[in-house]
Amino acid sequence: MNSVIGEPLAAIPGLKWANRFAGLGTDFYTDRLPSPLPAPYWVGRNQALARELGLDEAWFASQEALALFTGNQVAPGSQPLASVYSGHQFGQWAGQLGDGRAILLGEISTPDGSQEVQLKGAGMTPYSRMGDGRAVLRSSIREYLCSEAMHGLGIPTTRALCVTGSDAGVRREEIETAAVVTRTSPSFIRFGHFEHFSYSDQHEQLKVLADFVIDHFYPACRESPQPYAALLQAVSERTAHLMAAWQSTGFCHGVMNTDNMSILGLTIDYGPFQFLDAFDPGHVCNHSDTQGRYAYNKQPNIAYWNLFCLGQALLPLIEAQDQALAALESYKTVFPEALEARMRAKLGLPDARPQDKALIETTFKLLAADKVDYTMFWRRLCHFGTPPGREKVRDLFLDRAAFDAWALQYSERLAHADIGLQADLMLKNNPKYVLRNHLGEQAIQAAKLKDFSGVNTLLTLLQAPFEEHPGHDSHAGFPPDWAASIEISCSS
Ligand code: AMP
Ligand code: MG
Repeated sequence: MNSVIGEPLAAIPGLKWANRFAGLGTDFYTDRLPSPLPAPYWVGRNQALARELGLDEAWFASQEALALFTGNQVAPGSQPLASVYSGHQFGQWAGQLGDGRAILLGEISTPDGSQEVQLKGAGMTPYSRMGDGRAVLRSSIREYLCSEAMHGLGIPTTRALCVTGSDAGVRREEIETAAVVTRTSPSFIRFGHFEHFSYSDQHEQLKVLADFVIDHFYPACRESPQPYAALLQAVSERTAHLMAAWQSTGFCHGVMNTDNMSILGLTIDYGPFQFLDAFDPGHVCNHSDTQGRYAYNKQPNIAYWNLFCLGQALLPLIEAQDQALAALESYKTVFPEALEARMRAKLGLPDARPQDKALIETTFKLLAADKVDYTMFWRRLCHFGTPPGREKVRDLFLDRAAFDAWALQYSERLAHADIGLQADLMLKNNPKYVLRNHLGEQAIQAAKLKDFSGVNTLLTLLQAPFEEHPGHDSHAGFPPDWAASIEISCSS
């Protein structure tokens, strides 16, 4: 195998590249080839996604694929680039950021539409600032597993096709090794892309970008008399649905800066994320977030704050400010409705009743009071109606009287419901498996010793998190005591 960039691979069977983002022009990006890594090896390959993308199975196992997805060779027809964006980080305007370590290879057409393919950790770009353009093995495995876990949970997300590693050293708090995640998404455009062109008074480019997003991803907005306000409203609604999904699943993102907000309402940029173990609404998963700006219970408001930034960025295209404000308003109704719908499904309530809002609030309070394990509570609750199911839920509580009072309220709501049907609904909405920090950590520790079996096993479980997977109960158990001391920071 030749690993010199510039000597292109032969055509990849079944794959044709398009480069629609590149068509926007060089105000939006800089052409940049990935920087090769020495002696790459496979860490994980996502066969399910490869099939969805229509990749040839034999080719995906080849040395050519390994070279391509490490950034050591370039596929014919691909036009690698790094895009420029800006953003608000931790509430402050941070100015220009951009793809500091991500390189967009281009776009492939798949049976489900176009997908952009991006290498994260593929070397320096003009937007690397002080960074080295690399990603370490630990954070790459976390992104790979979590994006597929989210997909398995039915939560909108970028996907991850594979991770490759190299023994090349990367300096973080200590020396670690390099890895590259191949991510796919219909688009990697962020709120920050709009902020970039708005804040730098490049309003023509702002319009080009908005038109690109409308034409490719929100064509219905074109029919509106105010297409750009309609775009803001559509993004607000998608983001509201995303927040409802995160909150109901107990997912903390950890770095909800505007440059980490997808214009398509997808979960993007997996860093210090965490699925809650104990239900602690104020939980902060990012060790670097000393103010707790991105605590679990603040996420819905932060999303709105970020949408407000997007609205501001779009103002030059929107005739009147009140149109932008009206477009943002939709978030305030869509989010609570979407959250309630998701929580009702988790509770096994197929129809909506006026008292549900109160029941949901009481449930959250009950869980918070005893810091009950969030995933475990919901999974056990699926069997509430069949003995000894209720006792097993009760066992999770210290304050049994509080649980009994809640259980009475819940039972009254359930009266006359078909227990079998209800359990079915709940088992499809309350996962058995989530990517708890300690599970990721165990797989990472083994992977550092070149044992990738833990990564593969987790991928299989997380891609089908509502299924039982006999023999894997240990992956669905309580976190060990040491899990509480895992510190995940922005360092990745
Ligand atoms: P993140 O917190 O990962 O979303 O990154 C914020 C910004 O820093 C983005 O512009 C990234 O491209 C950039 N960045 C993060 N890590 C690195 C790195 N190791 N090298 C270059 N740029 C980076
Ligand atoms: Mg980012």
